[in-house]
Amino acid sequence: MSEKEKEKTTISVIKADIGSIAGHHKVHPDTMAAAAKILAEAKRKGLIIDFYVTHVGDDLELIMTHRKGVDSPEIHELAWEAFKKAAEVARELGLYAAGQDLLAEAFSGNVRGLGPGVAEMEIVERPSEPIVIFMADKTEPGAFNLPLFRIFADPFNTAGLVIDPRLHDGFKFEIYDVYEGRYVVLNAPEEMYDILALIGTQGRYIIRRVYRKSDNEIAAVVSVERLNLIAGRYVGKDDPVAIVRAQSGFPAIGEILEPFAFPHLVAGWMRGSHFGPLMPVGLRDAKCTRFDGPPRIVALGFQVSKGRLIGPVDLFDDPAFDETRRLAQQVADYIRRHGPFMPHRLGPEEMEYTTLPQVLEKLQNRFVKEERRYKVHVKKPSSHSE
Ligand SMILES: [Mg+2]
Repeated sequence: MSEKEKEKTTISVIKADIGSIAGHHKVHPDTMAAAAKILAEAKRKGLIIDFYVTHVGDDLELIMTHRKGVDSPEIHELAWEAFKKAAEVARELGLYAAGQDLLAEAFSGNVRGLGPGVAEMEIVERPSEPIVIFMADKTEPGAFNLPLFRIFADPFNTAGLVIDPRLHDGFKFEIYDVYEGRYVVLNAPEEMYDILALIGTQGRYIIRRVYRKSDNEIAAVVSVERLNLIAGRYVGKDDPVAIVRAQSGFPAIGEILEPFAFPHLVAGWMRGSHFGPLMPVGLRDAKCTRFDGPPRIVALGFQVSKGRLIGPVDLFDDPAFDETRRLAQQVADYIRRHGPFMPHRLGPEEMEYTTLPQVLEKLQNRFVKEERRYKVHVKKPSSHSE
């Protein structure tokens, strides 16, 4: 390993819903303490440099720094152990959906595919390395598509794209197709319309990584695990996390937060089956109540310094986002009045992974087939290869 490589710091954000108190509402502090104890021991042994344990709604969030690189079996096993211990406490306390996201019995080298969500990046720290960790509850990874596009490709959001020569060349978007397990890298601004043609289908095409085009430096990473696709059934929403680097050649903190001033509609909310506004909140409001929502997002700001996590600052805990929250409530009121109707309820493709098909199955033999006097051509979506 070269001297340069030794200097690299990896930031790993790994999350799981291991059970919560009073339904899908909030993580119990005892489960957080159990996870923190495991990470503290790993820090003492030198496996990780630093950590911060928190929660957003019913999701337990492990933020860790280390020198092991992304997808390190040791780090993933550590997270798995922390979740297992937390789930044990959850079971003992009789918490709701204890162990929900731990889909496998045993760890097998990487937590991806076992249930937890993962966002990791390996960087050479700049002299000052500000980052934002986003953590959302009651939504899915595609919820980051709109804000990440705006942060890294929309000059009406990010002034630096226009006036900062280090941002002026634009950014590259790595877009992952969660159905087919393939990805494409597209450049902004040149291929903006192609990017949008994909990421507007946020249930399928997810911005997974963003790179600065001029030097390929990583700027952002999102967890893209879709639990329902892994399990083939509804196992809770895939509440996503993201890491975004800020300042000095990247968008400013305020440019990174700005898209969240619009509470855009995201999939999730009640039973992972409804569209609702994404409401930015401080940690104290990171709990989902009304109709198990509305979907929430927290932003924690850190400085990464020699691998240490300095902070956090609770970035949405600010009256500057009060009007956003008010608008989110109004949108919640409006869309809730649709009850079980689309577009409040998700479309049939997404509902395949809920309990709705069981209800529809019962009606199958009540349908009466009718002779039609004309031909119809029903097309499947062209994006579907199955
Ligand atoms: Mg959750």
